[in-house]
Amino acid sequence: MGIGKIARDQHVPALAGSADFTLAATASRNARVEGVEGFADLATLLEARPDIPCVSLCTPPVPRFDDARRALLAGRHVMLEKPPGATLAEVHDLEALAAARGLTLFATWHSRHAAAVGAARDWLAGRTIRRLSIAWKEDVRRWHPGQDWVFEPGGLGVFDPGINALSVLTAIFPRPLHLAAAELTFPANRQTPIAATLAFRDPGGAEVGAVFDWRQEGPQTWDIRIETDGSTALLSDGGARLSVDGTEVAAGPDREYPGLYARFAELLAAGGSEVDLSPMVHVADAFTLGRRHVTDAFDW
Ligand code: NAP
Repeated sequence: MGIGKIARDQHVPALAGSADFTLAATASRNARVEGVEGFADLATLLEARPDIPCVSLCTPPVPRFDDARRALLAGRHVMLEKPPGATLAEVHDLEALAAARGLTLFATWHSRHAAAVGAARDWLAGRTIRRLSIAWKEDVRRWHPGQDWVFEPGGLGVFDPGINALSVLTAIFPRPLHLAAAELTFPANRQTPIAATLAFRDPGGAEVGAVFDWRQEGPQTWDIRIETDGSTALLSDGGARLSVDGTEVAAGPDREYPGLYARFAELLAAGGSEVDLSPMVHVADAFTLGRRHVTDAFDW
């Protein structure tokens, strides 16, 4: 559901290459996929196609809850784009509903399926971490052209990409972190931040921080630099490459969305759900603790 940028860029191709799933129908107010039955909304699809067992929601986070609930109430398994909802409480609600109905709910974090994330987690395990710094800097005009929802309440602003970095952080860091401080920079005419700086408290003593910025033109940066007592690692390209002391040790092609659908198939086969809200907890805490700064108005 929601035939927009990410559905076209990633979900439709991933489904076309999947041995586990077939794209049977779409629900989208304005768009369709050629050769596939299309409905204007999910309620009509669910009514017309009781044979469809799974729904993948690719709409923005604010309108997603009602449809996720609708799909679960109609007895369908559900996969959610990231972030899994507009609030933590609504995702808890969906998780409870899925459990009560014996259905699978999969809250996806596509960046966790980047090629070198598993290698980074394994490399870090058992090391003494001194410092970890995230730099996630991209051009919002390039990646979200005209998508005003990202600057509306619930659209997360720069945390829309930043939460991808936090999904990797929470997957590779060997223990839970707490947010300690945040600086949030809002365009004068917008509801969500265009830049953010985060500092975390690590019970293990490492200095952990992140800088997110949506104003970066030219080369884009999605890097996590980790200093341990012995060496320095760089997880770059959004998790696609890992180098240690300047030597590449893991890399691979972009298989994030095929990885998500393979994981969804595993969850369906096992009859389980996967809902890890830890990246979203850090974002919610940043909005709770964040110090507000105002910068130039933003227009596309
Ligand atoms: P998008 O293109 O703006 O929206 C997807 C589609 O959802 C729209 O084309 C629209 O289709 C439908 N939609 C929009 N607003 C709606 C509303 N209020 N109610 C019902 N349907 C609505 O957004 P996107 O970039 O694909 O992002 C969707 C989700 O994927 C977000 O959570 C985002 O974080 C995540 N994501 C995006 C990217 C990316 O590169 N853009 C990457 C990874 C993940 P109709 O008008 O046809 O209904």
